[in-house]
Amino acid sequence: MLGKEIISGLQEIVGKEAVLTSKEDLITYSYDGTTTWTHMPDVVVLPTTTEQVSQILKLANENRVAVTPRGAGTNLSGGSIPIKGGIVLCTTRMNRILDINKTNLAAIVEPGVVLQDFNLALAEQGLFYPPDPQSFFGCTMGGNVAENAGGPYCVKYGVTKQYVLGLEVVLADGYVMGLGGVTVKNRTGYELMMLFSGSEGTLGVITKITLRLLPLPPANKTMMAVFDDMAVGGQAVSDILASGVIPAKIEFVDNFVIRRIEEMTPMGLPVEASALLLLQTDGSPAGVEAESRQIIDVLKSSGAREVKVAKDEAEAAMYWRMRSAGFAAVFSAAHTVMAEDVAVPRDRLAEFIHRLGEISERSGFFIQLLGHAGDGNLHPTIFTDIRDKEQFARAEQTMEEIFEAALALGGVLSGEHGIGLEKQRFLKRAMDPKALDIMKQIKKILDPNNILNPGKIWEQEAGDASNH
Ligand SMILES: Cc1cc2nc3c(=O)[nH]c(=O)nc-3n(C[C@H](O)[C@H](O)[C@H](O)COP(=O)(O)OP(=O)(O)OC[C@H]3O[C@@H](n4cnc5c(N)ncnc54)[C@H](O)[C@@H]3O)c2cc1C
Repeated sequence: MLGKEIISGLQEIVGKEAVLTSKEDLITYSYDGTTTWTHMPDVVVLPTTTEQVSQILKLANENRVAVTPRGAGTNLSGGSIPIKGGIVLCTTRMNRILDINKTNLAAIVEPGVVLQDFNLALAEQGLFYPPDPQSFFGCTMGGNVAENAGGPYCVKYGVTKQYVLGLEVVLADGYVMGLGGVTVKNRTGYELMMLFSGSEGTLGVITKITLRLLPLPPANKTMMAVFDDMAVGGQAVSDILASGVIPAKIEFVDNFVIRRIEEMTPMGLPVEASALLLLQTDGSPAGVEAESRQIIDVLKSSGAREVKVAKDEAEAAMYWRMRSAGFAAVFSAAHTVMAEDVAVPRDRLAEFIHRLGEISERSGFFIQLLGHAGDGNLHPTIFTDIRDKEQFARAEQTMEEIFEAALALGGVLSGEHGIGLEKQRFLKRAMDPKALDIMKQIKKILDPNNILNPGKIWEQEAGDASNH
């Protein structure tokens, strides 16, 4: 339990109304997008200014209280679970878009801005911010930077960190640090700012973000390719990229999701298909026409049974809604859903899908597949039940085999969801020990008392901040 003086200190900083302590409120902040983790915080605080964030961290640091930064809590790695109790610092009330500058092609936002609100504000001005995690209706810009989120558009446009021009970050001791700015180029010293993209709330609290923008592409076209074999679909992705065209999006959807979506919202999907690839090209109308013709040719020669081109925006939107509902379809399918996030080199995609088939046969677990195939980033998912200890242990063992298979093909543990609580055990196997050591030293320099999101990324160590 936190001391009363901490609660009253927080109330002095942000006002009583922005400090939550009732059991009902605390439960709301005890979980995230994962189905395996939950932990109650002692208190939730909802600041509205950088100054308040700074004072909260100062108070927490002086009293060695754990602070878990949180946006919308949609992450899929346990990142915003307050595993050590203490304070959840939720940024959802810091939700102003401070500036959109068409000449600089840059915007400044607070961390609690919801991605979809940002997209809509940009579209009104003919502007475009590509990174599009499929939680866009809820996830926040702070959470996106802290996870270095990706999404379908990242095949052509890159992930969140490629759009971060500047950050304001509050360090563990309350110091407010400015990094970068609005210029496109900046070669001043080390790339310290990049450290915070993907830092999962362990190095500082992001309070302001300057983002690079693009003009909204004038035209686009959506295609859906139907495959009778998942690995053939995987090979088609490699073939498209090798043919010299980079589509804006290449997404993979397996038969499980096709059928679940068709059950929930009938839209005439081919329910007997093994897999679908959903693709989009964008750019000038002439460029879109030429690229889509090339893509359709490659898809057909790579073994697609059928390629459908969306006849209008409504049909295209329907296909993309199907893709973004993918996780909802998957997460509602079992008590415990282990959805992973490995990425492999794109020319090994078909091989990886084959290996997943072998692992599934050996283990007896069905492995569901969905993901950003154009990035080699798939979400192999196992349905299990954490209440059945024996089955859950076997599911964990199977997931470990999936990690091993991805690593053996030159892949990585996480393409976009981060390490959080989910993948700590595997970090040592996936990284150079010296690199890990340097990362730990960075954490120590920035957060010597380990108050910021303790228990995340790194396996538990003695001396972690915990409840007081
Ligand atoms: C249906 C669904 C689909 C998804 N699809 C994708 C996808 O396509 N691509 C993808 O990359 N992810 C996806 N995700 C995962 C998730 O939405 C992203 O990781 C997203 O970036 C999290 O944003 P959030 O606001 O919910 O952050 P939270 O979940 O609240 O926090 C995520 C992490 O960031 C830290 N954090 C949050 N705010 C701050 C801050 N201001 N300063 C410092 N640290 C902070 C937290 O401590 C935590 O470690 C999906 C999730 C769901 C539920």
